[in-house]
Amino acid sequence: MRFSGYASVSAIITMQTFTNKAGSVIVDKLILVIQENKQYLSDIDGLTGDGDHGINMNKGFTMCREELDKNPGDLSYSLKVLAKILIMKIGGSMGPLYGKFFKAIGTALEGKEEIGITEMGEALKAAVNSIASISPAKVGDKTLIDTLVPAQAAYERAQVEGKTLSEALEAMKIAAAKGRDSTKDMVAKLGRASRLGERSRGVLDAGATSCCLILHVIADAGKDILY
Ligand SMILES: [Mg+2]
Repeated sequence: MRFSGYASVSAIITMQTFTNKAGSVIVDKLILVIQENKQYLSDIDGLTGDGDHGINMNKGFTMCREELDKNPGDLSYSLKVLAKILIMKIGGSMGPLYGKFFKAIGTALEGKEEIGITEMGEALKAAVNSIASISPAKVGDKTLIDTLVPAQAAYERAQVEGKTLSEALEAMKIAAAKGRDSTKDMVAKLGRASRLGERSRGVLDAGATSCCLILHVIADAGKDILY
């Protein structure tokens, strides 16, 4: 009896999900974290670039807030609204990159009423692939890839090991922070910062930093609504 009791409890734990409908809170929290960190992100960008990263991101995410206030929806819908605004309205390299990123996640989750470890895993993989389709950046180039790729890999590793969704999200968070921190000692190979060469060493990459904030919110807000 005791063992069957344990088995059913662990079966419930491994089936952790949240609904697409409740998941819209993830986008609400993404908007907040970008708004709260706009100055910080621009300050980091200003050390090696033109200092507009936080300002641009804040512009796009705030426009998304206004649109979702008028026309709210579930997580996949909200992510696609965010993606469309970033792609259409935010210039530079980050608008299209994050636009692709959120569009891939939103599309992967479309029509899924319940989101569990498999659905989230597919969405994260789609996000990595979509960025790879438009950016030549590799791990070590001092970009958001240095956060995203190891974070997705850590999630996938946890998934393969049979961990729960909250454990996989926690693994993703740890790897994302490590990835962000790894950019500090790197020399930029792409974009505006690459012109600085050796002088780009010693500061975090702004995109790697915003990507870490974003992945942490996805993990934390997702874990909050698991049932
Ligand atoms: Mg910039």
